[in-house]
Amino acid sequence: MQTHAKQVVALINQLPKKEELKFLEKQPGNKKIISETNQVFISVINGLRSLVGDVQTNSTTIPFKQIEETLDQFLENAAIQYDKMNKLSLAPKQPQIQKTNQLKPKDIYGFADVIQLNKLPFIPVLKYKHYAQTELDQKIIEAQNNPYQFFEKYSIDEFSHPYYEEIMRLTPQDFVIDVPQKINRYRDLEPPIMINNPDHLGELILKIQQEVDQNGFSEIAVDLEHNHQISYLGITCLIQLSTRTQDYIIDPFPLWKQIGDMLSVVFTNPKIIKVFHGADNDVQWLQRDFGLYIVNLFDTFHASKELQLMQNSFQFLLSEYCKKSTDKTYQTADWTQRPLSDEMIKYAQIDTHYLLYIYDRMRQDLKKLNKPNENINNIPNYYIETVLKRSKETALKIYKKPLQDQDQSLQTILNKQDRRMDAKSFDLMVKLLELREELGIKYDQNPRYFLPNPFLFKIVESKPTTIQELKSQLGGDKNIHEIVKENLWQFLKVLLEFDEKIPTVDIIQEEQQNTTQIQIEEIQSNLQVEPLKIVQVSVNIKKFQNKNKSIIEHLQQNENVELLKSQFYCESPFKLLNVFHDGLGSQIFQSMKEQSQQQKQQIEEQQQQKIEKINTADFIQLPKLEETNRDQQKDLDIRLNNTLQNQHGTKILKRHQKIEQQKTQKSNISNRFQIS
Ligand code: AMP
Ligand code: ZN
Ligand code: MN
Repeated sequence: MQTHAKQVVALINQLPKKEELKFLEKQPGNKKIISETNQVFISVINGLRSLVGDVQTNSTTIPFKQIEETLDQFLENAAIQYDKMNKLSLAPKQPQIQKTNQLKPKDIYGFADVIQLNKLPFIPVLKYKHYAQTELDQKIIEAQNNPYQFFEKYSIDEFSHPYYEEIMRLTPQDFVIDVPQKINRYRDLEPPIMINNPDHLGELILKIQQEVDQNGFSEIAVDLEHNHQISYLGITCLIQLSTRTQDYIIDPFPLWKQIGDMLSVVFTNPKIIKVFHGADNDVQWLQRDFGLYIVNLFDTFHASKELQLMQNSFQFLLSEYCKKSTDKTYQTADWTQRPLSDEMIKYAQIDTHYLLYIYDRMRQDLKKLNKPNENINNIPNYYIETVLKRSKETALKIYKKPLQDQDQSLQTILNKQDRRMDAKSFDLMVKLLELREELGIKYDQNPRYFLPNPFLFKIVESKPTTIQELKSQLGGDKNIHEIVKENLWQFLKVLLEFDEKIPTVDIIQEEQQNTTQIQIEEIQSNLQVEPLKIVQVSVNIKKFQNKNKSIIEHLQQNENVELLKSQFYCESPFKLLNVFHDGLGSQIFQSMKEQSQQQKQQIEEQQQQKIEKINTADFIQLPKLEETNRDQQKDLDIRLNNTLQNQHGTKILKRHQKIEQQKTQKSNISNRFQIS
């Protein structure tokens, strides 16, 4: 189906354009054929339009613009349907469209300044070590004080774990190993204590400390809720903490800059066991957001592994040991929202409420694994100690920012999916990933959400060469995340720069030279327009001339041959419109605007002497990037379109002269001239 669609587009490209049509009509016998073809064409187009739900009154002239639009829409729908039908070809799930201007917790609560939203490696955020056995690395402090200078001086991409020694030196504690014969059943759920100010957090810490003072140790269960959608690095949204007697829910947002130093009194105290389930992520989030490290971790995930349970999820442990279940849908809920609903709070509470009971039961079961006459390596508590060893490994995990090295990142993705890629596609994919990452940092959004990997794979496979094709590959206009939409031209730029041989690149180059480059050159000779770089494709002009010659000869000589010849240089203003809409035009427009008004006027005057009529005022009124008003855009479409058409004749001549003069080797053939 997609091949067919490509063939249709190729055929459309071969159709004669307006001026040629006029010329052809003059040839004897042609008029009737053309008129009949027109009728067929119009009915086909109307048929297509009714398919895409855009039925309008019949027209007697060929509605080029509508044809273009209709076909685009039609092909886009077809591509989407094709993807749906063919589940093997990845039909990536579209991300939930999230408004990028939505206020984030860092802005609302004023902690944006401590978020390391840059390309530098992550710098640990702790300023002071409680329960320290070794000093805090001076390099960390140096980096905290002058990040950019620091990384110019040292080529470090990861700091050592600040609590490495404390964690490594820790030996299994009696209060972990010695499980009471009779353990208390879990308590029934009661509303948790909500903590959202430093005083209440201080009281909680004091309470835990008092228990340590009384019993020589304490036990707490901890879990986090997190959001990785609305920001580049991700954000901890909730810290749940349960003691033997009470559940606490800590809202980190209003406490952001204080939590680290306060909670580290508990989290690095080796006399307090911290029970987590599957702490791999939590350990890293705590480091990233609060500079918190865990000394003396017991991870029930590792316990479930040692016990070789059927499953290792928290849900499974909850049903096995407590005969309770929880609603998984909250796992993916938006935990940044405030106030949190009672249901969400309850869900969060459950994640730690039963965990100390599960910890007791699991330690019992682990003890039972050690049969009296079967002491592995003479270690009486082999299984519990193994869990503690694995938990140490988890606690020693070091947070790293999302991979800066996209080569490596891509290799990881490919390995995970057991997928292969040829070297060229790999390079292109890396370039696209790099661009996506940059946008992620720029907008502080998760790149994997605003442009999921499967879309990038799709683009690499299909190598779209126009904005329309690109849009269709991304799931159609309505489905594209606004960040991607605002930067489509950047993606197209990467694609076009990468693959210089695709014929439609030539079309864009053609259009570019005809309308923008030449105009700009003439208006402002020294104007630098960055995006135009994308079309620096060298083309063989000889080949082009030869082809034209044969066409011209075929048509037999005619006094209009020169005119006709010149027209072959210029094509497809409609496609150009698309390019303009999605960024290039606006870029050019911006650059032009920045030039002094004087200079413009001066050159415009020269311009008017040279060329009869180029309506520059119309030309530079291109739609701006931010413009979303559809009607306005439509209006601009028509105006720009008209302007381009009005300019046609003059422009073509101008360009023709230029080429003759310069005798450069720079031109090309749009693919519709590939008829031999
Ligand atoms: P948990 O440790 O299960 O409470 O999960 C902590 C955080 O990890 C959640 O708040 C989610 O942000 C994320 N998370 C957990 N499970 C999933 C999942 N299945 N899909 C996506 N995110 C998840
Ligand atoms: Zn968790
Ligand atoms: Mn949780």
